[in-house]
Amino acid sequence: MRRIFKIINGRLYYISRVKRKIKKTRRKNLNYLKHKKAASVLVKERLEYFNQFYNYKYGRVAIRNQKTRWGSCSKKGNLNFNYKIVFLTPKQADYIIVHELCHLKEFNHSVRFWDLVAKAVPEYKEIRSSLRQIGVQPLSGSRKSFYLGENKVK
Ligand SMILES: [Zn+2]
Repeated sequence: MRRIFKIINGRLYYISRVKRKIKKTRRKNLNYLKHKKAASVLVKERLEYFNQFYNYKYGRVAIRNQKTRWGSCSKKGNLNFNYKIVFLTPKQADYIIVHELCHLKEFNHSVRFWDLVAKAVPEYKEIRSSLRQIGVQPLSGSRKSFYLGENKVK
């Protein structure tokens, strides 16, 4: 009898853990769906703005729900951005957009690449370190207010 209880308890614990995980995933996905459009508008507008200067060719622009990256550039010239970019300061968002834009010309992090970035964002070093402090964290509860609070500071 005791063994059976132990097994049942173990199962219940497992089920509640799975349920919690599903809830968390759903919440994260809701945040993504909620802010995806705004992120897309912001990114496309700023890409066009900065590309008046750079004049590069880029492919598809996608907004993603990424855990560890703010943005990426594929070899084919497609650009991806994290939807959480909408919670950053305009300067931080611009830096991320310029960073990925410059990868269209320099697919590396060489001195030449950073020189290109600096043409539009001369203070990129400070912005980079501010982004490193924030990190790309799950956007929920206190983290959300942290992001928004961070926006008010700068
Ligand atoms: Zn890069």
